[in-house]
Amino acid sequence: MGPAVLPTSSAPAASSAGYRGRFAPSPTGDLHAGSLLAAFGSWLLAHAAGGEWWVRIEDVDGPREVAGAADRQLAALAAFGLASDAPVVRQSGRDVIYQRALDQLLADGRAFTCHCSRTDLVATGGIHRHCVASATRPDPAIRLRVDEGTRIDFIDGIQGPQSQDVAIEVGDFVLKRADGCWAYQLAVVVDDADQGITDVVRGADLLDSTPRQILLQRALRLPTPRYAHLPLVLDPEGRKLSKSDAAQPVNPGDPLPALRRAWAALGQAAHALAGATRVADLLVAARTSFQPDRIPRGVAPPPALHNRDFTIPD
Ligand code: GLU
Repeated sequence: MGPAVLPTSSAPAASSAGYRGRFAPSPTGDLHAGSLLAAFGSWLLAHAAGGEWWVRIEDVDGPREVAGAADRQLAALAAFGLASDAPVVRQSGRDVIYQRALDQLLADGRAFTCHCSRTDLVATGGIHRHCVASATRPDPAIRLRVDEGTRIDFIDGIQGPQSQDVAIEVGDFVLKRADGCWAYQLAVVVDDADQGITDVVRGADLLDSTPRQILLQRALRLPTPRYAHLPLVLDPEGRKLSKSDAAQPVNPGDPLPALRRAWAALGQAAHALAGATRVADLLVAARTSFQPDRIPRGVAPPPALHNRDFTIPD
């Protein structure tokens, strides 16, 4: 069992709101058990803190987007009774604020234009420490410079103390991709700050992205929210479920079983929801009996897809 979730803070809250959480799915497939766990877990923690819970669609990765998935994810959230406390924001309409952040990083000398291809970086295992491009390209990427010795430490509200040498483990990372798309790391940091998110609660597959996000917050002089990473939902063979693989979507037409499974994966007592026959009743019972300190720590997660830059052409 992990340490207490709520009071453990790695940094001051990011806005005047006491607690503002969020769920930020990428529309790369239908809602599945893992994303329902992140949605329900972040919703429960926000309500337990008397706070708000906002939904944001992270649709900056055009090549991986599945047509209609965002609308189906929102319809599924509605069927599961998980309502956003603010109008849903879509990242695809926010180029201007990402560009502003990128311009600031370029002007400050923190970001640089990079012509390296994936092939150029094979010798360093895909990690960029300095440019080794064999040729210039018309469509260079923009990266954040990560100086040698850059170590980020933070306390995760569920997984406990974390530490990463970002220069060695990640290297200079992409902010704007060679295909023109905004990188997840930049968009998520800009939006969490812009929306005054105080508490980021999400799946443990994103735990190792958090040091990059804290580094970017510091480079942009933005506040750092509290972070809590939920355990991963595994399939019967012990593999992580991902939106992009063959994971079965949860069935919005029959929401109670999936909510009960997510509740169990959050370490909560099954009997607390036993009597509920409607979603609304189940959510009331869940809010009443939710115990944050029962959430288990996750297994060692495989890195999320956001950590790999599939789109740098060779
Ligand atoms: N959009 C990301 C995903 O669907 C989650 C981002 C986040 O919660 O920070 O995996």
